[in-house]
Amino acid sequence: MVIVGLGPAGLSLLYFLKKFKYNGSVLGIEAKREVGLNKHCAGLVSSSFIKLMWPITKKTIINRLSSFTVTTLSTSKKVYVNLLEEAYVIDRIAYEKILFENVSNFNDYLFKHQAIDIVGNTANLSGKDRVKAKIFVIAEGYVHRLRRKILGERKGERKVYGIQEDIIAKPYDKTSFSVIFTDTFAKGFFGWAIPLDKRKVRVGIGGSKVSIGMLRAFERQLVKRRIISEPIKHGEPYGGVILTSPPERPDHKGKVIFIGDSGFHVKPITGGGLFIHTLFSRSLARSITATDNLDNTRFLNKYYGETAVFRRKLKLQGLIAKILHELNEREKTKIINDISGEEYYLRNYDFHEEDILLLLTKLQIAKSVMKHSHSIIAAFLRRMAQ
Ligand SMILES: Cc1cc2nc3c(=O)[nH]c(=O)nc-3n(C[C@H](O)[C@H](O)[C@H](O)COP(=O)(O)OP(=O)(O)OC[C@H]3O[C@@H](n4cnc5c(N)ncnc54)[C@H](O)[C@@H]3O)c2cc1C
Repeated sequence: MVIVGLGPAGLSLLYFLKKFKYNGSVLGIEAKREVGLNKHCAGLVSSSFIKLMWPITKKTIINRLSSFTVTTLSTSKKVYVNLLEEAYVIDRIAYEKILFENVSNFNDYLFKHQAIDIVGNTANLSGKDRVKAKIFVIAEGYVHRLRRKILGERKGERKVYGIQEDIIAKPYDKTSFSVIFTDTFAKGFFGWAIPLDKRKVRVGIGGSKVSIGMLRAFERQLVKRRIISEPIKHGEPYGGVILTSPPERPDHKGKVIFIGDSGFHVKPITGGGLFIHTLFSRSLARSITATDNLDNTRFLNKYYGETAVFRRKLKLQGLIAKILHELNEREKTKIINDISGEEYYLRNYDFHEEDILLLLTKLQIAKSVMKHSHSIIAAFLRRMAQ
């Protein structure tokens, strides 16, 4: 088989193929000279991810977080959420490098660094090389070049741009991260501040338009709200595309299978991909390893059977995300003002739709959400019914 793209999704597939003792040959192809160069991720993950990829994750943990707050720029009130299981910030570059080291002695494994194009069951590498394979797994990330070519899709995925930097500034609470919504810079804009240690914070913004100027303006707001102290030094900005679609798009064609950002395996509410694509990679590796004949597609049925439950959960999360993304700052502010003052608990950082639905069973919260967003929910339901 051939795996195209060795970001975290492609590497985690290799990791599980090795773990489940796959004995076929695998060619891993990465366009960049080295793995681990993509820096776009903030590295915020759940304890389930840490456990799933233990001991790889062991040496990558930068900080542990036990709560977060949500607010908008138009209110001084906040919603406090305690995490019943800690969230972690990991060093995403170190994570990929350790993962790569782990799989580099894999049985009959070849790593080539070059881009690839796929026609039928043949991959054309740049240069004159050609490779035939029984399965192609595309883990090209958010670029979707092969995705568009193989599935014949047009551009138009639901996405926002994210940009962030690590700054030297004191977080007032080292164990809590902050999320702030505002429409000041662009509709649906949100920003985050994630403490890395006692004197370093990862600050980022996401939206349809983002710029260094907006990032700095957002940092000033964080100082004003006493979330961080005045920055002593700014880091080098980095970022990328955050996908917000649920995985309702096809993620295979014949035996060409898309995983990671190229398969839309992300949490629609936050765009976080590491945990989700690792679950998909593990199932795919298990299904491939369990079959003795890759000429038929039985392994795909097993893969789809195993991942059906994640797909359902992500679909539900996608519906909630669509409603959340459509609320404007005024509506979000009203809801935050109404429900702040009480402490909330999140049981599951990965599939928080269950906690959100549980919260809606609280009368005051349900009333506030309905009052301030009923027109959006009604419009949304009308669209769904068509
Ligand atoms: C600003 C930002 C913050 C984020 N924060 C978080 C977070 O806190 N937590 C979280 O879980 N997720 C987060 N994410 C999402 C997470 O980064 C992605 O889900 C994850 O990187 C996707 O991994 P991937 O392997 O699918 O793609 P990528 O990481 O994009 O890797 C794809 C690889 O494929 C290679 N490639 C592409 N095309 C070809 C080709 N034709 N031939 C050969 N190689 C090719 C690329 O060079 C690259 O190395 C964030 C994303 C952004 C943009």
